[in-house]
Amino acid sequence: MEKIMNINKILSFDIGGTKIAYAILDRNGNFLSDVIQHQTPAAPGAVDKILKSVVKRFDNQIDVVAVSTAGTVDTTNSFVTGSVGNMPKGYDQIKFTELSQKPVVVENDANSAVWAEYVLGNAKGCNNAILLTLGTGVGVGIIANSQLLTGKKGAAGEVHFPIRYDNHRLCGCGRYDCLEIYMSGQALGLEAKEVYKNDNVTSHTVIEGLKKNDLSAVTAFHNWQEMVKNGVVLFADIFDPEVILLGGSMAHFIDYKRLNDEANKLVVAPPFLLKEAAFKNNAGLIGAALLAVKKIESK
Ligand SMILES: [Zn+2]
Repeated sequence: MEKIMNINKILSFDIGGTKIAYAILDRNGNFLSDVIQHQTPAAPGAVDKILKSVVKRFDNQIDVVAVSTAGTVDTTNSFVTGSVGNMPKGYDQIKFTELSQKPVVVENDANSAVWAEYVLGNAKGCNNAILLTLGTGVGVGIIANSQLLTGKKGAAGEVHFPIRYDNHRLCGCGRYDCLEIYMSGQALGLEAKEVYKNDNVTSHTVIEGLKKNDLSAVTAFHNWQEMVKNGVVLFADIFDPEVILLGGSMAHFIDYKRLNDEANKLVVAPPFLLKEAAFKNNAGLIGAALLAVKKIESK
């Protein structure tokens, strides 16, 4: 990778199972353009096509391409290595570094997002911070001793271990009863189906029901929130962070006061602060851009 002395414009992508977003940012994470969104296409190869056409359009205006992506990313920040169950077939074959003549830096979306929170958001000033994004799965970004923790294969924080043993709930990874399938945003909908005994209810039914103090909604939400609390306590005990941030649309409805009180009574080394993440949809774009600058300039 050639050394670039003045990185001022970063074309940043955030690629997930439902949408592909992109924007141009400066080196400090400020947006220089609007955020453009595409639906993630289902056809193999179609994602690659979108990326190529966007890069082609902006390549002569930018210094670096940054990619925040679903899935685990290798430690050279070049390609996706796995955990792409909700992405189109063939996604892990995309050669990101060939998208542009400029340097291309790829990072997992949760890692990108926690880096945005660490530099500019609600983990600013903390040397140890965890971001748990409660979506279809649970995205986990970890800052440990001021470093982004990736692990040997970029899979640090993947939470596919079983928390019960009666094959109750099938996880997206193909096994039963992983923590992820109980504390993800998706899990609130699954909890609702069980509590309401109705396959048509969703997490949104619960959120609407909470406003009317509906007993089933309150029960489903409480059960789910207890699982979120268990996950938070687990990460707090392993990493001893100053702060744990929750992201994803369902994270907005968490009772933070209650969970802070309860979780801090359970962890080995209180206190830590549980908070909602600062950045909503743009965390991946911001974090990937900031990380790309850091990676290239530290080479
Ligand atoms: Zn799993």
